[in-house]
Amino acid sequence: MPTETPLNTNGHDLLPRRTHNVMVFAEPGEKPMVAGVHRRCATCDERPTYVLREGTVHVQDPCPYPTGITTEITLDVPSGKLIVTDDLRAVYDVDIDAGASYNTALGKAQVVEAMAALGCAYGPVGNSCPGLYREGENSYIIASPIHDDDDVPSLPEEDRLARICTDLWAYSIADFEDWKAKGGAPENKRLGHYTVVDVTPGAYKFTLHTGERGFDNYTADTVIFAHIERVAPAPTT
Ligand SMILES: [Zn+2]
Repeated sequence: MPTETPLNTNGHDLLPRRTHNVMVFAEPGEKPMVAGVHRRCATCDERPTYVLREGTVHVQDPCPYPTGITTEITLDVPSGKLIVTDDLRAVYDVDIDAGASYNTALGKAQVVEAMAALGCAYGPVGNSCPGLYREGENSYIIASPIHDDDDVPSLPEEDRLARICTDLWAYSIADFEDWKAKGGAPENKRLGHYTVVDVTPGAYKFTLHTGERGFDNYTADTVIFAHIERVAPAPTT
């Protein structure tokens, strides 16, 4: 009869966030039995190989991203106008199955980088309907406020420049003129489903936090999905 043993995940994200029914059994010379964990690491998409060493079951190889993945991309905004919405795939589209599973942080980061290469700042944010908020003179956040008992939001309404209705479970932001030049047609987009926001022309860095370990969409606090800041006065290319 195998005996229950501790598990060392070796940095991989294998433990379900809200249930802790993990069972690990191992006997020397036998394949360890691990139940109640993800079949693949939710960060790196690797399927773990379990080995028993000194009374503990270890994942054989360490996770390359033990603290998760923070994704940084740069968006050129020469026009000083951002189109802000959930879905710009009619103009900027990539194959989300080209890399790691989109269910993992690595898969999402690969899509974010591929979309950025096309000229679209894209970020998966779940079904959160966040807003684009002004933070400083040339800095912004994509965030969801919470509301207190008097329904006062944790972020000032007057700082909200756009609402993002997340039918696609993502935000998509691009230079408005670039989007139009590549075939984007404002008259074809549902009224009220996108917002054009004036910003200082330049290059903007988007830092997306959703792939970081411990990032929680459902926390009882303001959720900041991404930080946006102007990093160069002119486009980087
Ligand atoms: Zn991993």
